[in-house]
Amino acid sequence: MAKKRVLITGGAGFLGSHLCDRFLKEGCHVIAMDNLITGSLDNIQHLFHREDFEFYNHDVSKFVHVPGDLDYIMHFASPASPIDYLKMPIQTLKVGSLGTHNLLGLAKAKGARMLIASTSEVYGDPLVHPQTEDYWGNVNPVGPRGVYDEAKRFQEAMTMGYHTFHGVETRIVRIFNTYGPRMRLDDGRVLPAFIGQALRGEDLTAFGDGSQTRSFCYVDDLVEGIYRLLLSDCADPVNIGNPDEITINQFAEEILKLTGSKSKIIYKPLPTDDPKQRQPNITKAKELLGWSPQFSRSEGLKPTLEYFKDKVK
Ligand code: NAD
Ligand code: UDP
Repeated sequence: MAKKRVLITGGAGFLGSHLCDRFLKEGCHVIAMDNLITGSLDNIQHLFHREDFEFYNHDVSKFVHVPGDLDYIMHFASPASPIDYLKMPIQTLKVGSLGTHNLLGLAKAKGARMLIASTSEVYGDPLVHPQTEDYWGNVNPVGPRGVYDEAKRFQEAMTMGYHTFHGVETRIVRIFNTYGPRMRLDDGRVLPAFIGQALRGEDLTAFGDGSQTRSFCYVDDLVEGIYRLLLSDCADPVNIGNPDEITINQFAEEILKLTGSKSKIIYKPLPTDDPKQRQPNITKAKELLGWSPQFSRSEGLKPTLEYFKDKVK
């Protein structure tokens, strides 16, 4: 049987590169596409020798051409950390809107199934807790995070439009905070920030009073959930994340203990519109996909810390 051919946009990024590994392991031919604005070829260097792997350096907000058949398109290209999308607001809006439109057009032309990487940010600063997929969210469209949140909300609407009106097979995953090896040490997200600070002996910078919460999912769990969703027949959005919720203060303490660091926790101003709480309700993923996370934070943090130890100079 011919190999399934999969296009992974954002393939040189944190999540995209793990997806490349997973689809190759499943026996697929993988085409990674990335313009490297936040990703790195280091993440996929180990794949370049393979005949079943190709890389295209391309901005998907411009017309996307891929020769040959495609079975699946995984649209993961987008700046993803708050400091990245605040530095690149227009690229973020474009990749979520124009990029998604280009890829849906490609999916339609090739008869491919397309999965988009949406986010818990579509719920904004949520007034429903934990967040279920039927919650419509509380997003400030004109606040600083609006460039990301609204791009992702539009991305979902456009994807559902192509599904409903053009019959394209689509899947929408709402990803909650995910961590693991290949995150960028300087991407500003709380986990690389705290681990980097702890390893360098610097104080850990908690924003606000550190009482806001997040729920952290290990990357291998996320990839498994995404893979199952792709193969399912569910076109509606599905949350994938780990419901184990903690405050940023507790998380800082955990990182200090894990690294054996003597650093202190210091407090910096809370960024505008920073969500106060976040926890996925994963009932739908459990029921539809038979999926739930397998890695506890302490299990997932071990390989993550090892990865970062090599990066901190
Ligand atoms: P990342 O920055 O590591 O990866 C994103 C990749 O997309 C990078 O390699 C970047 O160079 C590439 N890219 C950006 N704009 C592009 C464009 N116009 N054309 C081609 N390539 C482009 O981030 P990540 O954490 O791996 O996130 C991947 C996806 O998952 C994003 O869509 C993000 O919104 C989504 N997501 C991630 C998380 C998380 O916790 N990591 C949570 C929710 C959603
Ligand atoms: N945060 C923090 N210190 C940092 C970086 C982030 O206290 O150095 C906080 C941030 O304000 C937010 C939480 O940690 O409340 C998670 O931030 P991150 O940027 O990782 O992801 P978000 O979930 O906000 O997109």
